[in-house]
Amino acid sequence: MNKPHETPERPVNFIRNIINEDLASQKHQTIYTRFPPEPNGYLHIGHAKSICLNFGLAQDYQGRCNLRFDDTNPAKEDLEYVESIQRDVQWLGFQWEGQPRYSSDYFEHFYQSALELIDKGLAYVCFLNADETREYRGNLKEPGKASPYRDTAPQENRALFEKMRAGAFKEGECVLKAKIDMASSFMCLRDPALYRIRFETHHQTGDAWCIYPMYDFAHCISDAIEGITHSLCTLEFQDNRRLYDWVLDNLAAFNRPDRPHQYEFSRLNLEYTVMSKRKLHQLVNERLVEGWDDPRMPTISGMRRRGYTPAALRDFAERIGISKVDSMTEMGILEAAIRDDLNRVAPRTMGVIDPIKLVIENYPNPEPEVIFAPVHPQNEAMGKREIFFGRELYIDRADFLEVAPDNKYQRLAIGKEARLRNAYIIKAERCETDDQGRITVYGSYDAATLGKNPADGRKVKGVIHFVEASRAQAAEFRLYDRLFCVPNPSKEADFAQVLNPNSLQVKHGFVEPALAQAPVEQAYQFEREGYFCRDSRTTDGLVFNRTVTLKDTWQQSV
Ligand code: ATP
Ligand code: MG
Repeated sequence: MNKPHETPERPVNFIRNIINEDLASQKHQTIYTRFPPEPNGYLHIGHAKSICLNFGLAQDYQGRCNLRFDDTNPAKEDLEYVESIQRDVQWLGFQWEGQPRYSSDYFEHFYQSALELIDKGLAYVCFLNADETREYRGNLKEPGKASPYRDTAPQENRALFEKMRAGAFKEGECVLKAKIDMASSFMCLRDPALYRIRFETHHQTGDAWCIYPMYDFAHCISDAIEGITHSLCTLEFQDNRRLYDWVLDNLAAFNRPDRPHQYEFSRLNLEYTVMSKRKLHQLVNERLVEGWDDPRMPTISGMRRRGYTPAALRDFAERIGISKVDSMTEMGILEAAIRDDLNRVAPRTMGVIDPIKLVIENYPNPEPEVIFAPVHPQNEAMGKREIFFGRELYIDRADFLEVAPDNKYQRLAIGKEARLRNAYIIKAERCETDDQGRITVYGSYDAATLGKNPADGRKVKGVIHFVEASRAQAAEFRLYDRLFCVPNPSKEADFAQVLNPNSLQVKHGFVEPALAQAPVEQAYQFEREGYFCRDSRTTDGLVFNRTVTLKDTWQQSV
């Protein structure tokens, strides 16, 4: 028998082990997590890992998960990001508890907490400038030395801090620091700043404040205010955990056995892309991509526009797992998750990306005929779709050669037969190329081979796809490839230098008529070509984004 909160269907990881212990020892009755993005950019696939972890744990343990905008830095934040983040979390299939929270809702609470530390002699207003502060802090080999302001009396510090809040000092003139340990081997404990002055309008609190708390001070208090039990973050905050604990241990309201604890896991790094927000901003601002939702971007909105599904991204998060080991994840793992999902759910259709004409000279009717083809060959419940066959068809240039190179060639060549996918066996008889290089193939079809092998027992192995010309819909195809040509672009001095110049190729061809009504973002399998979805940004004409190729081509092209 499983204990009520154990979830055997998910692989265990160290965080689940901790949670299981905390529930078993009754340290917590229910678990409460949070996802705390800074609203200074769009969410990316790394955030998706954190979202799936935090919201996923809350789901599995019947706990709760907050969405908290970590908006303590007024300068860089924007409502556009606040909205896109909510959209992306919901699209991934998660819902936060109640309303979204804002760290800025707690500004008064942070302020009172700072006063409490000041009164306890645990925080002081320091007038060293940035260079002096750096010098006083020392380094990993040498201890720091005490700031001359370190022993100011609590009463005086209180008055100074109140003046900071009232706007009596200039930006950078002073900061509030925690009084911890200038000799600590953890640099973050050498009297870290808790508050700084910024004369900046904040998108939630306007001009109410000119002092803003530092992340390390605001985050732990926000967690404690919200009753978060397990505060999960990435490994670079490992040392800062000491500061997290120091702050909560020194505040009367929060120094309790069930207060939040921080646990670190390794961040997602993905090959051939970048995830630092600074670099993503640069890609957008320098117009190296079309925008945050460019289908080549590692953003959730870009992946959505490209046809990735929430289920596939959740599955990817599951596949990469949670650990404390930093590593680089291969793009192939992400794409395999996408393919596995789309192979199951994507309706099949045909699209000719690089068209040439094929004229069936023995086709008797002026009008095309309707053929019913399965929407999904392994799932009859998805029904049938109408396709057309007639005298003029489009096939792909890559499927025709005048002269077959050898006996193994399984596409179309003069004098050879091939089956048209979902339709008849045809034979190419001759071809013409006009003065603009346009090829037209002329041939015939075997009217007795619709969905049947030839009665005379001859074998036709090759299958090629096609679209009937009179009903075909013209379409643009955007063939995406990896955005960078090197696996780890972040290592480059200038990552813009290693952008893949062929990350987008545009082709013009034809699709089945029903695709004129294709909903945006719905991925289809274009048989033999790959998965595509209709672009959500295009308002006129049919544009299909290639979601992913049918097979893993990454390993070969490296
Ligand atoms: P940056 O440092 O580039 O500004 P960030 O990664 O700190 O961005 P936040 O908005 O603060 O971005 O992140 C919100 C949450 O998502 C944090 O808890 C963070 O640990 C997590 N997160 C961010 N990037 C990744 C990643 N690559 N893998 C896993 N989790 C991540
Ligand atoms: Mg951050």
